[in-house]
Amino acid sequence: MKLAIVGASGAVGHELLSVLEKSSLQYTELRLYASPRSAGTVLECRGQKLTVEVMPEGRIEADVILASAGASISKPLAPVWAQHGAVVIDNSSAFRYDDNIPLIVPEINGDVLEQHDWSKGGIVANPNCTTAIAVMALAPIHQKYGIKRAIVSTYQATSGAGAKGMSELLEQTKNALENKPVSNEVFAHSIVFNVIPHIDSFQDNGYTKEEMKVAWETRKIMRAPNIKLSCTAVRIPTLRTHSEAITLDLEKPAKPDDVRALLETAPGVEVRDNPSEKLYPMPLTASGKYAVEVGRIRSSEVFDGGIDLFVAGDQLLKGAALNAVQVAEYMQYKGLIK
Ligand code: NAP
Repeated sequence: MKLAIVGASGAVGHELLSVLEKSSLQYTELRLYASPRSAGTVLECRGQKLTVEVMPEGRIEADVILASAGASISKPLAPVWAQHGAVVIDNSSAFRYDDNIPLIVPEINGDVLEQHDWSKGGIVANPNCTTAIAVMALAPIHQKYGIKRAIVSTYQATSGAGAKGMSELLEQTKNALENKPVSNEVFAHSIVFNVIPHIDSFQDNGYTKEEMKVAWETRKIMRAPNIKLSCTAVRIPTLRTHSEAITLDLEKPAKPDDVRALLETAPGVEVRDNPSEKLYPMPLTASGKYAVEVGRIRSSEVFDGGIDLFVAGDQLLKGAALNAVQVAEYMQYKGLIK
């Protein structure tokens, strides 16, 4: 299987290489592509030194393409790559809401991939990072108790806006500590010593697109079109890992101990929930980890029988690179790709 990464020099691209390093995915060739800005950069994977090449204008010679260069690249080009027979696993938002394109978190709805014929190529969408992390905890709870309504408040790291988001936080922190002027380009305001309740563009309903993505994508991945979900998405001055406070109104009443036991057996979830020992999910402990941390599980004071919890997941991993590689692994394991 010939594998290619488009956007290999970016924040997600770097994580794709580190995940591939440890993955069982089998391939005979790996090619890395980006823009002319980083062409020529040498990166390493599985002991091989690989030079980043300028992305070709049309076809990419690969069986599987991990696309991570943004929607403006994927939207026009992924269909071209797919027409030439490649399976494109796309990290952008370009195809997530297309009914004919599967939106996949393998632990939750990997089986949907088996309903498609991939022999002539196609596109798989990878979810929005905040959604991918939330559904790891929500899907098992929904299956057992039925989620009626969810209220989600997020605490999102600067790397959610790519490598340049992290650079802006570091630069602003340095300047602020040296009493120098702080300027912002990536975020709407200075992010250092601040939180910004504005991620992506505002919609007519007053929510941002990031907030609506969590609602739209949770329903699609969990095959639960009736769940009502309200999200407030907030950027905070951390480097990586998105955290989320989630309140659930359930069809069947749940007890915190039962939810804890349920999540302890859920794949890709690590229950970290012992407040008396100061154990709960945090970016500090979740960063670099494959599992999504879940804790602060308690009965809701608002919804009878409902549950409150807190999750933290490395959005560059489960929210992007890890999930994309897991999709490819799943497809190879099931014989859907070479
Ligand atoms: P990033 O750090 O800004 O990296 C963007 C990558 O795309 C770089 O490799 C860049 O190459 C490449 N690129 C940009 N314009 C290009 C062009 N015209 N031709 C070829 N390559 C081009 O962004 P990121 O955070 O990795 O995000 C990549 C994608 O993943 C986006 O769609 C994003 O929404 C999605 N995603 C990101 C996260 C996250 O947490 N960051 C999570 C889930 C999904 P150069 O180095 O040459 O500029």
